[in-house]
This record gives sequence, C-alpha cells and structure tokens, in this order.
Amino acid sequence: MAERTIRVCDVDGVPATHTVRIQDGRTNWLKDLCDKDFAALVQGARRPKRGRQPGSKVTTRKPRAKASNGRRRKVTTARKRKRAQPATA
Ligand SMILES: [Zn+2]
Repeated sequence: MAERTIRVCDVDGVPATHTVRIQDGRTNWLKDLCDKDFAALVQGARRPKRGRQPGSKVTTRKPRAKASNGRRRKVTTARKRKRAQPATA
C-alpha cells in the first residue's frame, strides 16, 4: 500500500502551497498555508535584509564562564586533513 503525504492548509484544510516558518523570539513555528492564507499572512509583512544593518553596532561578546543557551557546540579538535590524491593516469 502506498502512502502519500499531502500538505494541507493549517487554516482551512485545502491543499497548501506554502510552508512558512515563524520565528517568535526563540520559538519557531511551521505552518502550511494555501495561497489565500499566505497572502493574508504576508499582508503588511516586511522582509528583513540579509546581513548586518548599516549603522548597527558590532558587539564583541565576552566569553562567559558558563554558556547556557541550551545548545552545545561540538568541539572538534582534529582538523580535516587534505588527502593527497594519487594522480590517476
Ligand atoms: Zn488556507
């Protein structure tokens, strides 16, 4: 038996054409929307520019003793080595 997953609009249940990710502070939301509801959502919305805004301050963070942002970074000590590739004739 073959199964097929179709995305439906989270508002009215019709087939969705857009998947939006909403970021609210640290919380992310995903929502599937049809054309109509997508248009309603982006009405009056603005698109953030990529990169740093001009005039924004560059802040250097001081390393804290305990970084507790919930995420841990993997610390890798070994670097990837370039493998000497044998020349193939
Ligand atoms: Zn909809």
